[in-house]
Amino acid sequence: MSRSVLVTGGNRGIGLAIARRLQAAGHQVTVTHRSGDAPEGLKGVICDVTDADSVDAAFKAVEADQGPVEVLVSNAGITDDTLLLRMSEESFTKVLDANLTGAYRVSKRAASGMLRKRWGRLIYISSVVGLTGGAGQVNYSASKAGLVGVARSIARELGTRNITANVIAPGFVDTDMTRALTDKQREAIIAQVPAGRYGTVDEIADVVGFLASDSAAYINGAVIPVDGGLGMGH
Ligand code: NDP
Repeated sequence: MSRSVLVTGGNRGIGLAIARRLQAAGHQVTVTHRSGDAPEGLKGVICDVTDADSVDAAFKAVEADQGPVEVLVSNAGITDDTLLLRMSEESFTKVLDANLTGAYRVSKRAASGMLRKRWGRLIYISSVVGLTGGAGQVNYSASKAGLVGVARSIARELGTRNITANVIAPGFVDTDMTRALTDKQREAIIAQVPAGRYGTVDEIADVVGFLASDSAAYINGAVIPVDGGLGMGH
C-alpha cells in the first residue's frame, strides 16, 4: 500500500537514501531541506526543524500535496563535538534543539493526522553513541539517547491505534557528517567495529523500509542497531 511519507533532512546523506528507498517501494515521499532545491526525482519542502512555524508550514504543504503524513522519518541531525569542559551551553542546547526537540516538533505535528487515520509509523534516526556515549559528544549523545524516550513514550501512548514508534541506532556511516573526521579518527573507529568497515546509507535505508512496511506492525518501541556490531551488548 502506498503511504504518505515525510523524511526530515532527506536532501542528502542517510535521509536521502531513506527517501529513495521508500519511493522505490511505491510510497509518496517528500523530503525536507533547509535551502537549495529538492534532490532530483524527489519532492521537497523547505523546513527547519528548530522552528515550529516552519515545521507546521511544511506539514501543511505535504498534507495538501500527498495527504496527512503516515510515515514520518525523523532523520535531521547535527553534531557540534567538543569535550565537556570546553562545551558551551549554547552548543549543548543547539544540538538538543535540532536533534531532540526537532524530533518532538515533527512527531507532535504528525501524530494528529496518524490518530485520525488510525495508522502511523514514526521512525527516529538515533545513533550508537546515544547508547554507548561518545567522548566529545555529550550534547549529541544526550540528544540521541533522548530519542529512545520519545519513541518509547509515544509507543505507550499511541500503540493501540496502529501507530508504532521505533528507533534505529546506526553505527558509523559514510556521509558528510563522518567525512569531517580525520583519517586517524576513522581508522580508530573502524578498529572497534566487528564488521571492520563503515556502514552504507543503503544499509540504514533498508531497515527503515522494513519498519515502514506492513511486516513490521508488531514492532514498537524498539531500538534497532545497524552498526556492524559496534554497540553489541548495549
Ligand atoms: P548529514 O550531515 O549528511 O545530513 C544531515 C541532514 O540533516 C541534512 O539533510 C541537513 O539539512 C539536515 N538538518 C540538519 N539540521 C537541520 C534542521 N535544523 N532542520 C532541518 N534539517 C536539518 O548527516 P547524515 O546523513 O550522516 O545523518 C543523518 C542522521 O543520521 C542524523 O540524525 C545523524 O545524527 C544520524 N547518524 C549519522 C551517522 C553517521 O555515521 N553518518 C551515525 C549515526 C547516526 P541541510 O542539508 O539543510 O544541512
